[in-house]
Amino acid sequence: MAFDLTQASVAAIAAHIRSRELSAVEAAQHFLARIDAHRGLNAFVAIDPQATLAQARAADAAIAAGNAGPLAGVPIAHKDIFVTRDFPTTAGSKMLEGYRSPFDATTVARLAQAGAVTLGKLNCDEFAMGSSNENSAYGAVQNPWDATRIPGGSSGGSAAAVAARLAPAVTGTDTGGSIRQPAAFCGVTGIKPTYGRASRYGMVAFASSLDQAGPMARSAEDCALLLSSICGPDLDRDSTSLDRPPEDFGRGLNDSLDGLRIGIPKEFFGDGLAADVRAALDAALQQYEKLGARLVEISLPRTELAIPVYYIIAPAEASSNLSRFDGVKFGHRAAQYGDLLDMYKKTRAEGFGDEVKRRIMVGTYVLSHGYYDAYYLKAQQIRRMIADDFQQAFKTCDVIAGPVAPTVAWKLGDKSDDPVANYLADIYTLPGSLAGLPGMSVPCGFSEGDMQNPEKGIGKPMPVGLQLLGNYFGEAKLLNAAHRFQQATDFHLRTPEGF
Ligand code: GLN
Repeated sequence: MAFDLTQASVAAIAAHIRSRELSAVEAAQHFLARIDAHRGLNAFVAIDPQATLAQARAADAAIAAGNAGPLAGVPIAHKDIFVTRDFPTTAGSKMLEGYRSPFDATTVARLAQAGAVTLGKLNCDEFAMGSSNENSAYGAVQNPWDATRIPGGSSGGSAAAVAARLAPAVTGTDTGGSIRQPAAFCGVTGIKPTYGRASRYGMVAFASSLDQAGPMARSAEDCALLLSSICGPDLDRDSTSLDRPPEDFGRGLNDSLDGLRIGIPKEFFGDGLAADVRAALDAALQQYEKLGARLVEISLPRTELAIPVYYIIAPAEASSNLSRFDGVKFGHRAAQYGDLLDMYKKTRAEGFGDEVKRRIMVGTYVLSHGYYDAYYLKAQQIRRMIADDFQQAFKTCDVIAGPVAPTVAWKLGDKSDDPVANYLADIYTLPGSLAGLPGMSVPCGFSEGDMQNPEKGIGKPMPVGLQLLGNYFGEAKLLNAAHRFQQATDFHLRTPEGF
């Protein structure tokens, strides 16, 4: 049978290119054609076939010269929050329209060094603020499983691109769930490493104490391949980068799960969890038991507090980080203004979207004199307690499993006028983010209908994701648990109709 490039894994594509059965240029052309054919998804915000093909030719030359990296010629795409020299970078904002970075983000540079070829830049919520990708200045992204639904966010373009087979693998970033949640909503696999393992250098900053880069792909095996290139110290460029040597995350993928203790936080399975999601999770947990794992009940008592805590800390940091967009240093500047202050005001009023403005206001408020102690400081204290709760839990379990989100992907427009409804849907991803833990989303089933509202029906089958959380530096264990599950199931291999 001919090699099916559209459905092939990263590992298989790399192997075919390395053996020169397939050239990097052919692989790039194949996916560029798919991207073009599915422009309606709006997953990509920038493509530049000439730049892509130049990178592909360089990969072919490296292979011919015998010095190819592990990902030589593999076409990937980057969330448009990573700065790139060969492509514009907007962070989903009008503020950065037309901006081009003079350097590559460390994650981009490391994947390029491994030989990967960039297909383009992926749509995302403005400055990664959102859960639906509807906050992008460049328009919403369609979920490939159902074009009337959101792909999740903020890495919505990333997840949609993998689900639609427009790229075998992509990058995303996760501040409060933005890799895990869109991965779950689009039926792909994604991992966010321990805070500090991936460099933040060249990632347009949202909330610096939370932001983390990671890969999204079809399988845990492919994620492991990319993550091995992404992680590693970058001490000169990111002061929060950890001095922890790079790791081959592919090594323990096949380890047995016999005796693995999976912690089930009771707070993750309460009333807020939709019945259709719960049914898929229950089946997945049974599958884990068949694989030899043991389920143990745990408690993460401050789960609910993660929402107010995150929505104080993240906006606080965002308000500070976004002060750099002042019409002088980067991107947009108002065309007409009076004095300097007026220039700042008009530039920021024009350049930022509603959600970003909302967060700047909240963030400025909670940091202001008189409110700092009541909100910001209190949030920091509770953040520490949330992290401590996880350490307590990890005394009795090796990994934690639960839902990624309370429901499957909702309809475009359903929550776009209700920021709080969006924030509440982050409940299961925020605790791990606040604690800085590694987390992943693994396709674990499909919802065949909204079981809580049977009269509404769900229309098309929508993917459900299982969240796995590990202790610090537990990425390999998460990938191992996900890989073994994927060896026993085929949810991650299913393709949405029409792709
Ligand atoms: N949905 C969360 C937010 O809006 C998380 C976003 C992210 O992880 N970048 O902040």
